[in-house]
Amino acid sequence: MTVARSAALLLDLDDTLFVERDYVRSGYSSVSSWLGEQLGVPPRVLMASLTEIFDSPTRGRAFDTLLAEYGRKDLVDESVRRYRHHKPDIELTPEAEELLATLPSGLPRGIVTDGPTVMQAGKVEALGLHQRVPVIVLTDRLGGRDAWKPSPVGLLDAARRLGVVADQCVYVGDNPHKDFHAARAAGMASIRYRAGFQVHRDCEAESSYQPDTEITSLLDLPAWVDLPPTG
Ligand SMILES: [Mg+2]
Repeated sequence: MTVARSAALLLDLDDTLFVERDYVRSGYSSVSSWLGEQLGVPPRVLMASLTEIFDSPTRGRAFDTLLAEYGRKDLVDESVRRYRHHKPDIELTPEAEELLATLPSGLPRGIVTDGPTVMQAGKVEALGLHQRVPVIVLTDRLGGRDAWKPSPVGLLDAARRLGVVADQCVYVGDNPHKDFHAARAAGMASIRYRAGFQVHRDCEAESSYQPDTEITSLLDLPAWVDLPPTG
């Protein structure tokens, strides 16, 4: 697509503004403390098992896999609930800090993020983003999983709330399975931010999911994103 000068910047949250593995570690630590009491197992042993599972292909069902080993799958639902509700120990990456600090005050900016509402709200709260970004869309609130990317509804809602038309927005994200497809469906430009800490850093986009461009630093946004010179 032809990229016009973008008048609004929309950002993904997980693995774009903070390190998702930090959240996972924080959640596993919280749940391991509780599970340790239930199972009579040292929390550090559970933490090590969960981390190992996260680094394997079954990462999405870490509590199922762990608790099956102990014959206690009855504890899965409560583990997931505690994971999602825990108060996360996370922080913005230095690049995200600098980006948010240097964006021109007049540039409309927003965040569009997927995931269970309570979990994403906890991340936004822990990162202090309500004080930094005027529009934060938790797509889950707009219709549950059906509203998660690659659905465009969250991106379109952010544009509407910012008072800008969709084709003046650019979306920056890390996940080639959904972020760029969502932007294209919303009529927006997209940028893939690829960095060494990301879970999806080695995943490649299918042809129809391609971003318009790729950057390796949040501070390398292209000239067509209406940013001030830095330095
Ligand atoms: Mg992400």
